[in-house]
Amino acid sequence: MDLIPDMTMKRAELSPNKVAFEMNGSGETRTFAQVHNRAQRAAHLLQSQGLKSGDRIAILCLNRPDFFEILFACAKTGCILVPLNWRQPVAELIPIVEDCAPSLLFFDDHFSETAENLSNTCSLNVINLDGNYEERLEGCSVDAIPTLAWDGNQVWYLLYTSGTTGKPKAVIQTPKMAWANAVNIGQSMDISRDDVTVNYLPLFHTAGINLISLPVFLFGGTNIVMPKFEAGDLLALIHQGRVNSILAVPAVYQVLHLHPDFANTDLSKMKSWGAGGAPLPIPLLKAFAERDAHICLGFGMTETGPTVFLMDKNAVIEKAGSCGKAQMLTEVRIASPDGKVMGNNEQGELQIRGPNITPGYYNNPEATEASFTDDGWLKTGDVALRDDDGYYFIVDRIKDMFISGGENVYPAEVEKVLNTHPAILEAAVIGVADEKWGEVGHAKLTNRPGQTIDISELGPWCRDKLAAYKIPKYFSVVKDFPRTAAGKVQKHILKQQG
Ligand code: ATP
Ligand code: MG
Repeated sequence: MDLIPDMTMKRAELSPNKVAFEMNGSGETRTFAQVHNRAQRAAHLLQSQGLKSGDRIAILCLNRPDFFEILFACAKTGCILVPLNWRQPVAELIPIVEDCAPSLLFFDDHFSETAENLSNTCSLNVINLDGNYEERLEGCSVDAIPTLAWDGNQVWYLLYTSGTTGKPKAVIQTPKMAWANAVNIGQSMDISRDDVTVNYLPLFHTAGINLISLPVFLFGGTNIVMPKFEAGDLLALIHQGRVNSILAVPAVYQVLHLHPDFANTDLSKMKSWGAGGAPLPIPLLKAFAERDAHICLGFGMTETGPTVFLMDKNAVIEKAGSCGKAQMLTEVRIASPDGKVMGNNEQGELQIRGPNITPGYYNNPEATEASFTDDGWLKTGDVALRDDDGYYFIVDRIKDMFISGGENVYPAEVEKVLNTHPAILEAAVIGVADEKWGEVGHAKLTNRPGQTIDISELGPWCRDKLAAYKIPKYFSVVKDFPRTAAGKVQKHILKQQG
């Protein structure tokens, strides 16, 4: 995988007239040949701006096919794309732009004010995708860019981590990682050229690009593009049988399940349901399974391209809560802090190696060094175990663990139990200081619609389900949790809130 052929050129040769992208709503389509031509033109546009290999280009837009064309144009020219998080205010974007120092910013009409602000503050050239971009593209050649072979290890784009545990870090993404991810997801989810998926998760996170849009593109399938997540629109596409595979974060499944159209949506035409990025509450998994929709949970990180594990359909119920076995092009091990490799049913840090792993964080050698062992394994910072049948279970993040009376408490285990309570929609547990025990649990809870949580009965309710030291000392009901764009609960903010 050191030299990789031009991906759009290959697709345009193999399936020129097949639809690569369709805009949900307008029905506007782009074939693989059109995407290739447009990506070639975009590459020439970048070069006409004086941009060369290694230069950074930022992009701030809702989901649209142009994003992928510009992404491919970057691979063709060696430029590095940096998708910006449109949920962040300008004040948070400025340090990110200063960190990766792009010389050009693409934006769309939704973010013109932010773009203007960034352009002035950080001296950026800008191109409006809803302005004269089309005109400028038409003025560019479609000829191949004669310069570079695609080096599988080239820095193709940067993705900032979700920011669940603190400040997001810029993770280098390479063509090799993209192919390893495509093979991993492709074989776990049986992706073929006949597949149709929906691109709706935000493109500034790995999920929007790699779960599963880029793999489907590389395999010659179709992406229906939704500018951003609309539960009703997604359910309609599923009901009409226009889409057959999705891979979503658990928060998306929660929203789909609570949507008034869910009960009447025909789920039977779907081939694959995937989930990853955070624990999937088991009651939610079961609610879908009752409708014969088996959600396969996976595990992934921005640093791992992202998928490492994905459950097989047949074991979803029997191994509920597991994220499956390690995928084809990845190696995993469970290790103790002193590097001892653990056996089955022993908890330890999940460590990963393989072509799907990032070479490191951009311009951040200290963080890169701290994240790898001397023999090249990525230290995930997550605790996991493997059962006797080879299935892996993610226990929790090491950072979220707390110690109560000398015993380790993994909040995710407590949350798993609380999530089965009929009145609780979602639980988030944090450790708080305690004079007697050092730390104790504080469970913050949201209620199911129409249900009231009686806090006084929760302690006794937990008693036959959890060891005493794991039972939270405090419970409180909240409206929602502070979340990342991917819907993950930000525990460090919950802790600041007390
Ligand atoms: P940051 O690194 O900025 O704190 P983040 O770790 O959430 O944010 P991502 O790269 O999007 O950023 O997410 C990777 C993390 O998501 C994993 O390290 C793990 O903690 C969590 N995760 C992914 N899949 C699962 C899963 N199936 N179950 C539990 N946790 C998961
Ligand atoms: Mg992380």
